[in-house]
Amino acid sequence: MGEAKVYVTRLRNQVDLRRLAFTKPTGGAENCIFCQIVSRRSPSNVVYEDERHIAFLDIYPFSRGHTLVCPKEHGETIWDMGETDIAELFQVASKVSKAVVAAVQADGFRFVQNNGEAANQVVAHVHVHVIPVKMEDRGRFTDRKRFTPDEMEETARLIRSELADN
Ligand SMILES: [Zn+2]
Repeated sequence: MGEAKVYVTRLRNQVDLRRLAFTKPTGGAENCIFCQIVSRRSPSNVVYEDERHIAFLDIYPFSRGHTLVCPKEHGETIWDMGETDIAELFQVASKVSKAVVAAVQADGFRFVQNNGEAANQVVAHVHVHVIPVKMEDRGRFTDRKRFTPDEMEETARLIRSELADN
């Protein structure tokens, strides 16, 4: 047994892979708002979609263009995903980040990926936040903002158009 494998085994002994705490029972895919967005039972400003992923604007964005990238398949945390799927998710997030930054003319961006209630994961369906940042906000986490439906759709349109160009 190699050293890396020993380490993984030890980690599994210490941490039950399904036991990250959520204060509310999640109810699985049935009651999941992101699954409802995937199936279009709930509206959202979708900016990107492929067979296995969807990206849409966060309704309470930290900045204009703040986007969530999700696997379509329901899983609560990143531990529910296979390694190949995790790699693919971040490849999509990277592609989306370029379009987001160009669309809102940001100077940088953050990836934030929260797992469990303690980490402020609000929706128990794996997602990567893509948060564009302007130089004037550097180093700070800004407050969540509200944009009008028209402003949200215009931002989504700009991101979609950047993705179509690349
Ligand atoms: Zn879900």
